[in-house]
Amino acid sequence: MGERVTLEQGTVTTGSSLQRCPLCAGSDIEVHLEATGGALAHDALGSSRTDVGHGKVLRCRGCGFVFSEFRPADEELHTLYREMNPTVYEKEAQGRLKTAQRHLKMVQRHIVGGRLVDVGCASGSFLKVAAEAGWTVTGVEPSETLANYAKKLLDGRGDVHCATLQQAKLQPQSFDALTLFDVLEHVTDPLAFLTECASLLKPGGYLFANVPDISSLQARVLGSRWPLLLAEHLNYFDRTTLKRCGDAAGLRWIAFDRRPASFTVEYVLYRLSQHGIPGSSLGHRMVQENSLGSMCIPVYLGETFAAWVRA
Ligand SMILES: [Zn+2]
Repeated sequence: MGERVTLEQGTVTTGSSLQRCPLCAGSDIEVHLEATGGALAHDALGSSRTDVGHGKVLRCRGCGFVFSEFRPADEELHTLYREMNPTVYEKEAQGRLKTAQRHLKMVQRHIVGGRLVDVGCASGSFLKVAAEAGWTVTGVEPSETLANYAKKLLDGRGDVHCATLQQAKLQPQSFDALTLFDVLEHVTDPLAFLTECASLLKPGGYLFANVPDISSLQARVLGSRWPLLLAEHLNYFDRTTLKRCGDAAGLRWIAFDRRPASFTVEYVLYRLSQHGIPGSSLGHRMVQENSLGSMCIPVYLGETFAAWVRA
């Protein structure tokens, strides 16, 4: 750790190549996928990304955890997220609301109300549906633009902290449920992060996380073209390593599930064409000229949803 690397302007310029597994600290590491670019810069971040390269992906032979070789320094990562371009993300608001409603159903299979914190709440779609269902909600979001959207969407029905989890300084043991939708894959130290999240829960409180699953059928079939292989994704869990991470964070695993995300046809084809999936470029050009493009469809990208209880 600690090696300084210099990349072009506007990208992460400090950080390190990882020599040890971020999950078990083992040093028996192999290359899982070779790099196809992967500097983490503004144009590689969020739904508006134009750069879909990913850095070299490694695998720990000890515990099986798969992770990106490059670990940006926390501070620069926070700056990138704070200034993220949310244009495309916001165009997909309709799908996001549908996905949020699905998330609420999955949460409410286990617990139906109380104090909930959504860490990485983005523009607040999930907070909105949870507040409408009677939850007392808090959001944490480092991007200023997204946090402002979330405040507007909630319209006073909850708190939104424009901060990282550490900066938000939430009261330990004060929540009945904590949600991490598409967050754990972005953090530099997933075990420390999950442990901190667990500490915010009351004993018996629930933690829910949704992550890209490197052992999913989609990841295995698509290989290096899997759309969730991205420079911004530092961690690639599967069900075994996700459970292991939860165990180490003091959580008791209770269930796995799969969640489709809803997007417009145009966005799905655009994303697939970025990853070189045959036929998608032509499809994208065709749907831009008619109403089919704005139709919202559920898509399984190869993710896993996990539920835990704090012991
Ligand atoms: Zn390991």
